[in-house]
Amino acid sequence: MFESYVFTAAARLMRYVQIDTQSDPRSATQPSTEKQKYLARLLAQELKGMGISDAHMDEWGYVYATLPANTEKPVPAICFCAHVDTAPDASGTGVKPILHRGFDGADIVLPDDEKIVLRTSELPYLNQCIGHDIITASGTTLLGGDDKAGVAAIMDAIHFLTTHNGIKHGTIKVLFTPDEEVGRGTAKIDLQKLGAQFGYTLDGGNRGSLEDETFSADGVTLTIRGVITHPGDAKGKLVNALKIAGEVLARLPSNTLSPETTVGREGFIHPTSMNGGAEKCVVEFIIRDFVTAGLKEKEAILENIVQGVLRNHPQASYTLEVTEQYRNMKEVLDNYPQVIAHAKEAIGRAGLQVKMESIRGGTDGSRLSFMGLPCPNLFTGMQAIHSKREFISVQDLNKAVETIVHLVQVWEERS
Ligand SMILES: [Zn+2]
Repeated sequence: MFESYVFTAAARLMRYVQIDTQSDPRSATQPSTEKQKYLARLLAQELKGMGISDAHMDEWGYVYATLPANTEKPVPAICFCAHVDTAPDASGTGVKPILHRGFDGADIVLPDDEKIVLRTSELPYLNQCIGHDIITASGTTLLGGDDKAGVAAIMDAIHFLTTHNGIKHGTIKVLFTPDEEVGRGTAKIDLQKLGAQFGYTLDGGNRGSLEDETFSADGVTLTIRGVITHPGDAKGKLVNALKIAGEVLARLPSNTLSPETTVGREGFIHPTSMNGGAEKCVVEFIIRDFVTAGLKEKEAILENIVQGVLRNHPQASYTLEVTEQYRNMKEVLDNYPQVIAHAKEAIGRAGLQVKMESIRGGTDGSRLSFMGLPCPNLFTGMQAIHSKREFISVQDLNKAVETIVHLVQVWEERS
């Protein structure tokens, strides 16, 4: 199917990354930076150029577009989603993408800063890219493949489908969002208007990977109240909330249950800030696990520690307040097994091995899943994201395009 197709994803990626779309966590506007709209507007135009007549950018910087079905079958409308913004971690101004053809395993030294080197010893995924064409930035900026690789893959897949009308598919929706990197990517999404039943974000890394799980997340606020007196007249009276908070932190397990001692599917209790004084002290925690029961367990462990410490300070008191932050999208996706099954089939048809992965964090996909659009995450090939050593294999990126095209066919065949 793709033998004679000239993929456009890499060329698109190299064009899109030259448009600075860095988002800004300190900005209160929507989108957080106006410049994100330059790319969004261009994407809407390019989609129109492909014959997608309803393609447009809305006032918030979201791009919506519909590729109508070309089948009689009742196929659910499927959305492909990517974010246009890049992370604030490294500069996104003046990105100069470089295509390194036929990577042979030798160090890639980036020309604008020779200290920035891509080595197989430090970036082991490069070993899986021998013989590939690699795109990097030039040494002073990130590349911005996160998530312009996803944008480019979706654009090329739409390009492929609009030029190969023999490929049967249901209604396809395209959604490009701003501000994912600052946690506001879903803030102004209009799911009603989007009108999709299921979605896929194209925001993953290793070729063949499919992410159907995120952390479940709670925040816990521990408030400790001590007893304050003048320190000159405090004997037997003063109870210092700061010292009690210190005892609580000291009793947290040191070899388990922390971000620095866990990997994979293990969760944790993580103190993130401590504020206050001797009279009243507030400690903020984040609790993470892949199952809700695991969150409750960790919250119980924390409360036991607090109660144990407070037993020695009967005049002090505490409150523990739990706030739900987000939930593992698998709780939603398990109700729609076809979403994952079809993606696995598509990745296989693209000639790749499926790698199921869990995200130790949250994604827009997890938010979308709970907003009513079940939405796992597909690979794009992007690597070493948010850094000056960011890179992507053109061959991996093209596999993402193939996967999208196979995926819409699988949905059509099985509906
Ligand atoms: Zn991303």
